[in-house]
Amino acid sequence: MEHLRINKERLLDRIKTLSKVGRNDEGQLVRLALTDEDKAGRDLLKSWFESLGLIVQLDQFGNMFATWQTDENKDQKPLMIGSHIDSVIDAGIYDGVLGVLSGLEVVETLKENHFKSPRPITIVAFTNEEGVRFPPSMLGSLVYSGDLNIDKALDTIGMDGMRMGDELERIGYKGDNEPGFIKPEWYLELHIEQGPILEKENVQIGAVYNLQGNSRREIIFTGEANHAGSTPNYLRKDPMQAFAYFSSRLYNYINDNKLATVATIGSIQLEPNAATIIPSKVTFTLDMRSPEDEGFNEAQEFVRGLLKEIEAQGEIGVKATEFAIFEPVVFDEMLGDTITESARDLNLTVKRMISGAGHDAQMINRIAPSAMIFVPSKDGVSHNPLEYTSDEEIDDGANVLLKTSMNLLSKK
Ligand SMILES: [Zn+2]
Repeated sequence: MEHLRINKERLLDRIKTLSKVGRNDEGQLVRLALTDEDKAGRDLLKSWFESLGLIVQLDQFGNMFATWQTDENKDQKPLMIGSHIDSVIDAGIYDGVLGVLSGLEVVETLKENHFKSPRPITIVAFTNEEGVRFPPSMLGSLVYSGDLNIDKALDTIGMDGMRMGDELERIGYKGDNEPGFIKPEWYLELHIEQGPILEKENVQIGAVYNLQGNSRREIIFTGEANHAGSTPNYLRKDPMQAFAYFSSRLYNYINDNKLATVATIGSIQLEPNAATIIPSKVTFTLDMRSPEDEGFNEAQEFVRGLLKEIEAQGEIGVKATEFAIFEPVVFDEMLGDTITESARDLNLTVKRMISGAGHDAQMINRIAPSAMIFVPSKDGVSHNPLEYTSDEEIDDGANVLLKTSMNLLSKK
């Protein structure tokens, strides 16, 4: 069992076969959640699950599960491996699919080699990870983790005006099981990096220990335009002075607290934007990111408080739009270490990484220890037909997933 390897050709073949499902007339891959194309992809996946004799189950949100278990191990919590098979518009062929099909490949390899697993292994494909048709993204895993009420989620209206629950029933993938019905011992997700770091540094495997939190805002301060020469400063309603106060307080807060959170004001527009006129309006963006839990939420509160303080002074109008706030995720250290060791066992170079993008693993991490394995993305491109990871890199990633699974299963 020491040098067990996945069947590279079989895995690549399945990736290729699934990539033909959901092509439009222009040949673009468009497998949006709960469309006929998604159903066709699910049907194919289900046929692969069933041909291996796995127990296929659905939950009420259409998340798909396939479990390999024996009489001896069926009472143990499973190792769960997966990702998603829905896509964006004009997608690449690896995003999500790699995580699900390499999970299947791991199970098939262990099964055909008569591996005596002390636990069941469950492969999962979560509903609507991309969130293109039904925003927001990662909805299936969010519902599964219990952090979003399923009825509320099923009432989501898509960009085409359709209701999610109706579409789920229409394609025949609404199950009876409550979300969260299988609680795994661990969750693993193999994914393309979607960034340039592994390729640039010539490293084969990323062991993902954290997922970056981020928040994005547009803030508008409004005042009164007036002549730069004839209005005394103390009589002005100058939004630029408010901006100077806001930005200096914010930067001091971040620097003084030595936070892992970084703050960027990367875009600013003044109106009317003339050298001799006090501006009437300042519009700027604020982007904040952090790989660590600590301080991230406090920094968001600091910004909100500061904006309230400026507004309360009564001179300047304040309008702040919070576009997105994703909290940082810290994955399970033991799992990250097991991935690192497993890559080294296979003589692959490995790097401790932070994910810049969101993934199902961050939701499942709320109910079970989770971690991710990254493989290189050529030029860091994804969500695009140019998305590319070489056959060898896919083989490496899937073998690290296999090795990590075996190392975990031999722990207890
Ligand atoms: Zn993905």
